Amino acid sequence: MAGEQEFLQQHFRKFYSEHKVNEPPEPASREFGIGSFGQKISRRHLAFKSLHDFNSFLRQEVPFFVSYSSALYKFPERRPMPAKEMLAADLVYEFDADDLPTACKQQHDSWKCPKCGRQGKGRQLMCDECGTQAILEEWFCPQCLGEARKKVFNLLEFLQDDFGFSEGIAINFSGRAGYHVHVRNKEVRSLSPSARIELIDYLTANSLSIFSHFRKEGELFAITKKSERSGWGRRIMSSITELLEEGDASKIAVFGSITTSQAKRLLSEKEMLLKSINERGVLPAFFGRASPSKESQSDKFWQSFIQSVIERISPIDRQTSIDVSKIVRVPETIHGETGLVAKTVSIDELKGFDPLVGAVGFGPNQTVKVFIIKAPRFHLAGESFGPFENQEAELPLNAAIFLLGRASARLAGS
Ligand SMILES: [Zn+2]
Ligand SMILES: [Zn+2]
Repeated sequence: MAGEQEFLQQHFRKFYSEHKVNEPPEPASREFGIGSFGQKISRRHLAFKSLHDFNSFLRQEVPFFVSYSSALYKFPERRPMPAKEMLAADLVYEFDADDLPTACKQQHDSWKCPKCGRQGKGRQLMCDECGTQAILEEWFCPQCLGEARKKVFNLLEFLQDDFGFSEGIAINFSGRAGYHVHVRNKEVRSLSPSARIELIDYLTANSLSIFSHFRKEGELFAITKKSERSGWGRRIMSSITELLEEGDASKIAVFGSITTSQAKRLLSEKEMLLKSINERGVLPAFFGRASPSKESQSDKFWQSFIQSVIERISPIDRQTSIDVSKIVRVPETIHGETGLVAKTVSIDELKGFDPLVGAVGFGPNQTVKVFIIKAPRFHLAGESFGPFENQEAELPLNAAIFLLGRASARLAGS
């Protein structure tokens, strides 16, 4: 792939000579890392005195991926890590559509078993024939990106409403299938490691004993009245109300671990339930009351229902890293696998932002002949391409780079 690598690098060099990267803030205190074709990080522990030096480096070296530390250091180039002397650390949350269970994956993703050769559509981690870990071919589409964006808005709501963080929040597209949210205010920067864990616990409702919001009075679950609800309690209750109003029996059945006919019976009393919840502040014991020796089916139903609701509305998952020594994509740089730019977007811009249009780093003017190994139908800069399999095509530069970067195509004739 030497020819392809050179081709991409030539265009990336042009990009960096025409666009100055004005990120990250406080560059002199950051550790940087770079990656090469097919390898996200190949060198770390780089440091630059200024954005000027950083940009000269980008024009000269033309890395395929550029990352920086969320931490600020006294000596960012030193190693091992403790020698850097950490001064503070931003919080960074990464949202990637690859991790979200979107229905469109059935269309654009595929898997193949390296052992028995079985293959299929969708995101399947394990071969269903021999149990070997499958090789995934992952793509992303406007629907995936929309779901990742919803996660960002959900997190922003938590940060603003529950923590009062409204300053120092920066959002950027990751350059591929997701978004990064950076929190850089003073309160956050000085958080201790244990406070960082507490924050994750709160955002995943892990530290929250679910029923601290739902006092048990007699045989019913009593909840706070609508006007007095806040934080998780408010969110859980409005989500329960929404689900009941929506009235999808099979969804209710899954959420509450009950049968569909039980869910239908429950929904036939929807008005009564909503009135109890919102006016009287009570989760009704619809499936019977507890005896002193045994938990009632109502208890089990509401516990399962509330747990499912929490998973649905939690803005991050438990695996979210609190590792302050990790490095993340520098906003405004190119993602070498897609040719898309890790665009910074304001909260207002994000509402209408489509990275497959707004983050395209290269023009459509030039066309390139490529041989495409395999690609599902994809969208870029307002146009659709493919699907392709073992065929030659003449594509606009941006679409050619989009396929060459991930080695799904090669230059025709090479
Ligand atoms: Zn297999
Ligand atoms: Zn998708």
